[in-house]
Amino acid sequence: MHELSIAQAILETAEATLRQHPGARLAKVGLRLGELAGVDRESLAFCFEVLVRDSAHAGAQLQIDWQPLTHECLACHREFPVRDWDRRCPGCGAGETRFRSGRELEVAYLELEEP
Ligand SMILES: [Zn+2]
Repeated sequence: MHELSIAQAILETAEATLRQHPGARLAKVGLRLGELAGVDRESLAFCFEVLVRDSAHAGAQLQIDWQPLTHECLACHREFPVRDWDRRCPGCGAGETRFRSGRELEVAYLELEEP
């Protein structure tokens, strides 16, 4: 299951940081997740919860910072979220736009509880 392996990778990232803070507990993981990352948010949140429930990280929370697909207009440089795959600029109507963001899948921050 795709989301389960991603949740495991997130925890491994957190554990690598925890090793540098002996005695600290993992309180929260902030994840930046792009619309195009191909990850189901609810499924990922569920997998994370299952993984931490009976672990040393029980109670740790996953905060998902959702990033919509965003394009930039080449004419007026406005950045806008793409809706319904319509990539035209909502500001000036130009059709020439380019991809800016929306593929993120990265741990943005960790909250630790120091002993
Ligand atoms: Zn424009």
